[in-house]
Amino acid sequence: MTDFTYAVDSDGVATLTWDVASKSMNVLSLAGLAELNGHIDTALADSAVKGIIITSGKKDFAAGMDLNVLARMKADAGDEPARGLFDGVMQMHAVLRKIERAGMDPKTLKGAKPIVAALPGTALGFGYELPLACHRIIAADNPKAKIGLPEIMVGIFPGAGGTTRVVRKLGAMMAAPVLLEGKLHDPKSAKGMGLIDDVVPADQLLARAKDWVLSAKDADCVKPWDQKGYKLPGGAPYTPQGFQMFLGAAAMVHGRTFGVYPAAKALLSAVYEGAMVPFDTALKIEARWFTHVLMNPSSGAMIRSLFINKEALEKGANRPKVADETVRKVGVLGAGMMGAGIAYVSAMAGIEVVLIDAAQDAAERGKSYSADLLDKAVKRGKSTPDKAAEVLGRITATTDYAALQGCDLIVEAVFEDPKVKAGVTAQAEAVIPDTAIFATNTSTLPISDLAKASKRPEQFIGIHFFSPVDKMMLVEIIKGRQTGDRAVAKALDFVRQIRKTPIVVNDARFFYANRCIIPYINEGMRMVAEGVAPALIENAAKLVGMPLGPLQLVDETSLDLGAKIAKATKAAMGDAYPDSAVDDIVFWMVDQGRLGRKSKAGFYAYDEAGKRQGLWDGLAGRYPLAATQPDLHEVQHRLLFAQVLEAVRALEAGVLTDIREGDVGAILGWGFAPWSGGPFGWLDIIGAARAVDLCDALAARHGDRFAAPQTLRDMAASGATFYGDNARKAA
Ligand code: NAD
Repeated sequence: MTDFTYAVDSDGVATLTWDVASKSMNVLSLAGLAELNGHIDTALADSAVKGIIITSGKKDFAAGMDLNVLARMKADAGDEPARGLFDGVMQMHAVLRKIERAGMDPKTLKGAKPIVAALPGTALGFGYELPLACHRIIAADNPKAKIGLPEIMVGIFPGAGGTTRVVRKLGAMMAAPVLLEGKLHDPKSAKGMGLIDDVVPADQLLARAKDWVLSAKDADCVKPWDQKGYKLPGGAPYTPQGFQMFLGAAAMVHGRTFGVYPAAKALLSAVYEGAMVPFDTALKIEARWFTHVLMNPSSGAMIRSLFINKEALEKGANRPKVADETVRKVGVLGAGMMGAGIAYVSAMAGIEVVLIDAAQDAAERGKSYSADLLDKAVKRGKSTPDKAAEVLGRITATTDYAALQGCDLIVEAVFEDPKVKAGVTAQAEAVIPDTAIFATNTSTLPISDLAKASKRPEQFIGIHFFSPVDKMMLVEIIKGRQTGDRAVAKALDFVRQIRKTPIVVNDARFFYANRCIIPYINEGMRMVAEGVAPALIENAAKLVGMPLGPLQLVDETSLDLGAKIAKATKAAMGDAYPDSAVDDIVFWMVDQGRLGRKSKAGFYAYDEAGKRQGLWDGLAGRYPLAATQPDLHEVQHRLLFAQVLEAVRALEAGVLTDIREGDVGAILGWGFAPWSGGPFGWLDIIGAARAVDLCDALAARHGDRFAAPQTLRDMAASGATFYGDNARKAA
């Protein structure tokens, strides 16, 4: 197996071409690293070689490190996993440092062989850390290429020298968005940022790289940090500017992460400590913090959910084995908030859209939503007027159902009323082909009931979007009792086309996401009613990694919607209805006209422009603060278990059939503490035995809603974990 090929031309320029045979995108494996190292040794030792080009045989350069590499380093080290990781990372540093020094005389800094990275396309993670070690980075002018270090997004940070080199190249301030936010750039903007040196026409990439190698001087091959008198751009921590910058950065990072993301904190420490020592020591510090992060269970859980499993679901891990169902023409019924968004994302994906509403002006209004978003994109330079016109041209806004002829998929997003939905189902089915799939975007009505209005219930399915459609990445696909495989495949192919992440669940009240969010919101309101300080509730949620506290969340989704759902649920559940205590506060808030953000009054106060101010101080009049306030952890456990136990129950009930979907869906759907990897990830981190103990204690104090499900008790007894023992838990 070869990942790199090596060839020397008649001018003495060696070209190392990265081309991993078994993959469409290059990723670094341990074997690949060893090969790279061997070729570099050969080139440096060969007096006929004047310099080296490192490039790729694929349209992109590389997507980074194979995440199994880190797992291997850990596993191979037996009972010293941290040592294994640290040593492995230091080996990677050694190879990259060898490229950077390229055989130069350490005293005179002369005699290095020039090494250039020639990037045909995307270069991410290690795929950019390797170029960073080269003396020059040239990229093809490929606007689709993305260059950068996205590691932080999956709970780690650039640990193959990327952190240390980018900070030394740009200064800590300019490096912050690259490292802390994982911002990616196309080649032109990467050059503007100083991340790469040159952008050249794609067909001249290798020629220009070779020209550079042949004309490079000694001084071109010495990195600024290897030169005498190097100073960190923007100031090291002990300079006046540097002091202010680092102080601010620490506060900013903590303010944004509330301290729950180990990677952000470790990254900052690596940068701060690394900035005060020589380069090679900084690499060692980077490796220690990197190891520290990799040893934290959060990083493994985040990589698993946000990278490996998210990708697996997007690639159709749970797609039935039926022929391709790519959508060509979609009919969207109802051009309101959701319909307008669904039309936009479909047209953006190149799908022809018929957007129907009851009145022409409503249909046009729905289409104008796309026009506004496209306008903004053009103004921001993210699109061109031609492209925007093309996308908009794909949307036909009409009231005429005859326009649905030829649609292979319908997505219905009319009012949440079974009668209205049944009406449009019949109207559409009278026109669309027999083979078309009909999907409903209902958020609360059982799919199997709505399917009764369809002539073809096996072709009827739920495709549940989240608002705002263009921003939210999760789509919940719901199978009704009679939904067939082709409908599931169609829905999954559609979600793939619009580049979102799907989960497939079975039909039950509130499906999966809302089933877990509602108890979270309710637990927050229940605590208010008990006299727990609202600020404690909201901060406890944020300190455990929830993006919004439950009270802010209910303000966003609106209290009247809460009241409506409460009434409908009570009617459906009768005596089994569990949330009467919550209703008291919901109905009272609605009576006060405090419906949330939309009425500029809710659990929070808002200014005239609708901007959220502090928590509303009138709440204490009705719900006085209790003399004794609960401990922070008690509040956090109540808020987390309210969601997590519902996820476990959804699994037990067969609503969820795959824990990967439960975890990915929770993070993308409602922002469930991403550091934990999701509800099942969190249970694995704390362990089933501790979870059961905590549930028993919460149930004793607060009631049966915290009773540990049997699955957890069984796992506690046997010492099982969700991911360890049943990676794909079938309910
Ligand atoms: P909306 O009120 O903004 O839009 C509904 C649209 O349907 C309106 O434009 C209305 O004129 C149109 N309509 C009503 N009857 C029609 C008919 N017979 N023929 C054609 N058009 C008709 O509502 P929305 O928020 O977009 O929600 C639509 C659906 O999506 C509902 O089922 C809702 O439960 C679901 N949903 C909403 C959200 C959300 O956050 N708002 C999230 C997920 C799902």
